[in-house]
Amino acid sequence: MGEEVTRQLDDLRAQCMECMKCDLANTRRNVVFGEGNPQSPLMIVGEGPGANEDATGKPFVGRAGALLDEALAACRIGRHHIFICNILKCRACEMENGRTRNRPPATDEITKCTPWLMKQIEIIKPLVILCLGAPSAKFIIKKDFKMTKERGIFYPTPYAQYAIAALHPAYILRQAGQDYDGGKSLLIADIEAARKKVVQAKNEPKPTLF
Ligand code: URA
Repeated sequence: MGEEVTRQLDDLRAQCMECMKCDLANTRRNVVFGEGNPQSPLMIVGEGPGANEDATGKPFVGRAGALLDEALAACRIGRHHIFICNILKCRACEMENGRTRNRPPATDEITKCTPWLMKQIEIIKPLVILCLGAPSAKFIIKKDFKMTKERGIFYPTPYAQYAIAALHPAYILRQAGQDYDGGKSLLIADIEAARKKVVQAKNEPKPTLF
């Protein structure tokens, strides 16, 4: 069972590496498919790779990743416990004063890329999805998701029994002083809520067809 899931995910990864569905394929250095435990009941879905992720092919390895790791560790969660990936598998960026700068994903890029995420979810079958940032919550939870009002709340979704959204670590890093501390506390609280929901969902009877 576990081997079959790993095989399916490896096949999908190999296909995703060759993706040319949008123009991001022309500027990327690496496709960032996602990584972690293919049998995890908890999937974390971010926005898209930044410069460090594009350079390494790994999700959340820059400063935002370090903050995320710290928040996960506060909940006694390691990368090996979860599967972590993004809405976009390639870096969305633009040139500014001769340098590349991350930009939010465009609607058509999300439309073309999310079939990869849907296949990842189909294979891994997480019980709980933790969305980091608004683009992820708008795709997984609902189109008009409002982070300030609706983070920290569980929603039933077609993708997992429960989904919850948290502030993106990159957003928290842009805050200072109390706003930074408050944002980090909220991130830890939302990760902890997701961890507890996994424990609860594991003990719930699975929805059956008959
Ligand atoms: N931000 C994201 O949303 N994903 C990453 O992989 C890194 C930074």
